[in-house]
Amino acid sequence: MGSVKDYFSSLGHGISSLVKGMQVTGKEFVTPKITERYPENRETFRYPERFRACLELIYDSEGNHKCIACGTCERNCPNGTINVITKMVDTWDGKKKKKLDRYVYDLGSCTFCQLCVTTCPTQALTFSNDFEQAVFTRSKLVKQLNYLPEKPEPEPTEEEKAKILAEREAKIAAAKAAAAAKAAAAAKAQDSAPAANPSSDN
Ligand code: SF4
Ligand code: SF4
Repeated sequence: MGSVKDYFSSLGHGISSLVKGMQVTGKEFVTPKITERYPENRETFRYPERFRACLELIYDSEGNHKCIACGTCERNCPNGTINVITKMVDTWDGKKKKKLDRYVYDLGSCTFCQLCVTTCPTQALTFSNDFEQAVFTRSKLVKQLNYLPEKPEPEPTEEEKAKILAEREAKIAAAKAAAAAKAAAAAKAQDSAPAANPSSDN
């Protein structure tokens, strides 16, 4: 009797599982299909906004990017994917300034961790969602991200120049005054120190 009972119990369990499975199948049968007809739907294709496909420098409408060539992204990249090549340029006041020469990015070794984007101090980087990056040669995945010609170093107006120079001179004068005050204090301390008593050696 026990085996007949087990038989019907297993049969009921099997039928119950079958009904559940058919319910899932039936539900999927009437659910709208989400298969993308790529590349035919390239124009209308919608991909998630946060999808990371390729690193790029953000250019504004005037063709400027915000990279100051600090190298933070390069140092933080765990794969050595970024190479920030810098150059020195002359500024209006005869000084030298470090600027970006070439921003080289190897898409083939990027893991899309986004550390470079999140640690950039000037928010100069972002990820595009342009996923059509397939190439036949791996070397073609190495890209130069600064693609617009560099603009000359901006020169301040005459008023701004005068202000900058005045501020600089004031800083130099303040530093000199501080150094002189420090030297005077040191000399005074030396003068007021008790002279060594030669008789104490005997
Ligand atoms: S992209 Fe940002 S972190 Fe990288 S070098 Fe330029 S300013 Fe520095
Ligand atoms: S996303 Fe990650 S791996 Fe890719 S370049 Fe940035 S830091 Fe490097």
